[in-house]
Amino acid sequence: MYYVDPHIHMVSRITDDYARMARSGCVAVSEPAFWAGFDRGSADAFADYFRQLVDFERHRAADYQIHHLCWLCINAKEAENVTLAREVISLIPDFLDKPGVLGIGEIGLNKNTPNETTIFQEQVDLAVKTNELILVHTPHLMDKYRGSRMILDMLTGDSRIDPQRVLIDHVEEHTIKLALDAGFWVGMTLYPTTKCTPDRAVDMIEIYGSDRICVNSAGDWGPSNPMAVPDFIRCMRTRGHSESAVQRIVYENPIRFFRQSKRWNFTPPTPVE
Ligand SMILES: [Zn+2]
Repeated sequence: MYYVDPHIHMVSRITDDYARMARSGCVAVSEPAFWAGFDRGSADAFADYFRQLVDFERHRAADYQIHHLCWLCINAKEAENVTLAREVISLIPDFLDKPGVLGIGEIGLNKNTPNETTIFQEQVDLAVKTNELILVHTPHLMDKYRGSRMILDMLTGDSRIDPQRVLIDHVEEHTIKLALDAGFWVGMTLYPTTKCTPDRAVDMIEIYGSDRICVNSAGDWGPSNPMAVPDFIRCMRTRGHSESAVQRIVYENPIRFFRQSKRWNFTPPTPVE
């Protein structure tokens, strides 16, 4: 079955991961800009990172017939440094028209601080003014409910925001309904230890349906599994879901969300039943 991994940090993965993903049916990935595991010392470091995303990584994926898409922003963790964050935000417009850029992301909150909130809103403002899609990172573990509530309140309180053009990522059992009820897309992240397992993701699909829901591996430099979406496909099949139901979640839904981007120019292969 063809699939898309709508959130994976391929800069942290080896080329063999592209090969394994391609063999398992991956035709496209989308890579949000994120925290590298250390705080970068200057805006120049982000400019180099953005070039890596829009250029080098795109070509590395193409060698495996995987279409590479990406998102640009300053992540929530480094947004704590407001001066640096504003320098990085000023770089983004020059990169937005590069091929494969889907929008602004993954913006969000980490520790739910005032500085993070300020920079979140400034990046939402940039996305609105440039008519870009938005990908939102929600905080980890005990900060998740409060941070998700804060994010949703900021977005729904801004009349310029169309929730159909925003995906709230890393939802779990206690936050998925908040986001779906407000009209947003959601992403469930399949992590080996935290966030969501394939079985928990299938549970939520059985409760909330398959509309506006995607699943992703969020594969990165920490404990994570770039093959998590194929694992989810097997889990859906084991639990008796039809091939068309599985395909909707792992293929049609991410493409439906992404194709709203003004730079979308990918012709996805026609799935074989
Ligand atoms: Zn991420």
